[in-house]
Amino acid sequence: MPEIGQIIAATRAYSCLDCGKCTVACPISRYDPDYSPRMVVYNATYGHEAELLRNDQLWSCLTCSRCEERCQSGVRYTELIKLLRTEAHGLGETGQCTHGGALQSLMHIMTAAHLNQNRLGWVDKSLKTATEAETLYFVGCQPYFDVLFSDIGVKTLGIARGAVKLLNHLGIVPALLPNERCCGHDLLWAGDTEHFVKLAEHNLKEISSAKAKQVVTTCPECYLTLKVEYPRYFGSLDFEVVHMSQLLAAKVADGELKFRRSAKKVTYHDPCRLGRFSGIYNEPRAIIDAIPGVELVEMPQSRTSALCCGTQAWMNCGTVNKQIQSERLREASATGADVLLTFCPKCQIHFRCAMHDNRLGEELEIEIEDVTSFATKALTG
Ligand code: SF4
Ligand code: SF4
Ligand code: SF4
Repeated sequence: MPEIGQIIAATRAYSCLDCGKCTVACPISRYDPDYSPRMVVYNATYGHEAELLRNDQLWSCLTCSRCEERCQSGVRYTELIKLLRTEAHGLGETGQCTHGGALQSLMHIMTAAHLNQNRLGWVDKSLKTATEAETLYFVGCQPYFDVLFSDIGVKTLGIARGAVKLLNHLGIVPALLPNERCCGHDLLWAGDTEHFVKLAEHNLKEISSAKAKQVVTTCPECYLTLKVEYPRYFGSLDFEVVHMSQLLAAKVADGELKFRRSAKKVTYHDPCRLGRFSGIYNEPRAIIDAIPGVELVEMPQSRTSALCCGTQAWMNCGTVNKQIQSERLREASATGADVLLTFCPKCQIHFRCAMHDNRLGEELEIEIEDVTSFATKALTG
């Protein structure tokens, strides 16, 4: 386990000028004046370990990276939080699990070496899939989300079906993993590196058995975890990791993917892991723009300044998070869009949750859809 001093050096926390721009940009600070990323960095650099590691605020950060976008000193705030959480986890500290810890239990169950999952029950006869192929679709935890969040109308498996349909349309028969596990994103960001490593080892073995050279994800968290975190722990990968937005945008640019008309006014929510973490801003918009008749209206907070969907890693979700989600949904509605598009199953879950909270008001309601499903509906032929 690294020393706090090493963490500070690795994340450039010593470069902090104490300017407070991070706190101004932070959505949590906007609704909770006691939360300050500037103070977290201050406590780190001045060696106030107890304030840092035994503090509930460590788990409140959305890890959305809006503060990093504003920081002119290059302080790697989200990496600082991730590493401090790992230290805190080692001391027995943890965040407050939402949903009675059901998702944390599920993630831990998935670390078991032998597991009998029904992970592909959603694959119907219209979809062409394989057990081995050059391209593999990494589905993520969508089969579980639809069960856990059925009460709020979550149907993320439409994204998975759409992904396979789009790939088939492009002449690709993807491999699917019957024994895929959670990518480990949320355990890693909760500081539990031990169980993250177990999940990653399992997935790498399965991907290798499927002989895949390209792994496509529809979840930005899976994308970032496979592309950036797996190599950090296991060295370079012998497959390429691609987000569906990149694959589809390239096919649109090549003229291989065309859509039929759809007269809709839409707005687009940039997921943090896809936008600020991966720099993928143009590809989703290129796909939306390629659908004739669709009008894209941007929200004031978009691209690098996009507001987060309001929560992270199934932890510390409370009033402040609901206020952030309400702000984002009001911002989407104010554009006059018929549909709020995003490219992340979890953003959709958290927004749906806010929309189903009858204390927050009916004006938050807006149709919400993933770009994958939206594009699938506009397929020609
Ligand atoms: S924006 Fe950067 S330099 Fe300014 S207080 Fe925050 S971490 Fe420090
Ligand atoms: S990562 Fe997001 S939530 Fe965390 S301190 Fe920065 S702006 Fe605030
Ligand atoms: S916003 Fe997301 S994490 Fe928070 S309670 Fe709703 S579904 Fe759970």
